[in-house]
Amino acid sequence: MPEVTPLPLKQLTTLRTGGVPARMVDAHTADELVGALQDVWARGDDWFVLGGGSNLFVGDEPFDGTVIRILTTGIETLASPHPGHVRVRVQAGHNWDDFVAWTVASGLAGIEAMSGIPGTVGAAPVQNVGAYGQEIVQTLVEVELIDEGDDRARPVPAADLGLGFRTSVLKHHYGDIATRRAVIVSVTLELEMVGPAERVVQGQQLRSALGLDAGDAVSIQWIRDHVRATRARKGMVLDDTDPDTYSAGSFFQNAVVSAAFARTLPADCPRWPVAPDPNPVRVIPLDEFDGTVPPIVTSEPDVKVSSGWLIEQAGIRKGFHLPRSRAGLSTKHALALTNRGDATAGELSELARYIRGRVSAEFGLELHPEPVLIGVDL
Ligand SMILES: Cc1cc2nc3c(=O)[nH]c(=O)nc-3n(C[C@H](O)[C@H](O)[C@H](O)COP(=O)(O)OP(=O)(O)OC[C@H]3O[C@@H](n4cnc5c(N)ncnc54)[C@H](O)[C@@H]3O)c2cc1C
Repeated sequence: MPEVTPLPLKQLTTLRTGGVPARMVDAHTADELVGALQDVWARGDDWFVLGGGSNLFVGDEPFDGTVIRILTTGIETLASPHPGHVRVRVQAGHNWDDFVAWTVASGLAGIEAMSGIPGTVGAAPVQNVGAYGQEIVQTLVEVELIDEGDDRARPVPAADLGLGFRTSVLKHHYGDIATRRAVIVSVTLELEMVGPAERVVQGQQLRSALGLDAGDAVSIQWIRDHVRATRARKGMVLDDTDPDTYSAGSFFQNAVVSAAFARTLPADCPRWPVAPDPNPVRVIPLDEFDGTVPPIVTSEPDVKVSSGWLIEQAGIRKGFHLPRSRAGLSTKHALALTNRGDATAGELSELARYIRGRVSAEFGLELHPEPVLIGVDL
């Protein structure tokens, strides 16, 4: 068993908080990962798996359990049943952005707009990572996954993962527990073989982020380079020399509210309709079916509103910090809470609570944290 001397979690998380856990195991192969999980389940230890630590907010008290670091790597190309496409299976610990770079260099389209997102491939489905209108759900075929207590990993189709806006059945949301406690061992995506050709860019969100007009054609390498540059300007690409990147990305999710509630917000608050279910299905049990099919009732779609805008309009500007606190908002992005230098989880929590309180008092809306919280109460 590759048990190692535990490292402080502040060295392994991008928000740079967290003490030394009781145990740490490094899994370099899929077999080691499955073995390490079975061992902690047999011991009855508290546990969690760690990828790049870029979506975690860990408390100051040492974690009294086992942290399993997923350090597996590897990319395999598989045949696709769809002409012009290829399937790619990637080990969970593979660095996400290295993988995106590999797909782009191989002329494979489908994830290039998610260039620069930190972390590992195995964690990407956990919150259905996305950027500029592209999300992993659009290309994900299946994962190999081991459920807690199981003896081996099994293939699970993407449709069974409950993937939605920054969520899946695997995500441990604040104030909740994950619906399915399981670990992804590998991820299979289906990508389109496009080569270096310039193509018209689909997606208004991506075009407007990159300053493109409808009909403009660029290569996937161009998209990757410009997405990374755009993200870097917002402190959204990890950079050891830039404290604006000592964060967990967006700390608060954009809020999804009813259309009626959205109408109570100031008209200039940026908002996007959340697409209604295009195929609403109502199942009528056979013994209740009287021969008539009732009309499908569709309600007004919910609305996603910009939490960054709400924070700034509540009077909290980029760069804000509480007096004497080493935690502050990024100077480039109102949604990123950052560690300005040895801030404790306590200092970051205090800032998060302050922001939530101000937004709630101003707009009557609760902001929800996006990272997974371990040993932290907001
Ligand atoms: C600067 C910055 C920018 C970011 N930008 C974006 C963005 O644009 N879009 C976006 O969606 N996210 C963004 N994020 C958040 C983060 O990068 C993603 O959520 C990423 O997928 C997390 O990967 P990780 O390996 O670091 O996960 P970790 O932080 O290590 O883990 C996160 C959670 O997933 C669990 N987990 C990890 N690996 C597995 C696995 N193999 N199986 C099951 N559970 C697992 C962990 O136990 C934990 O609960 C950003 C973060 C930062 C710091």
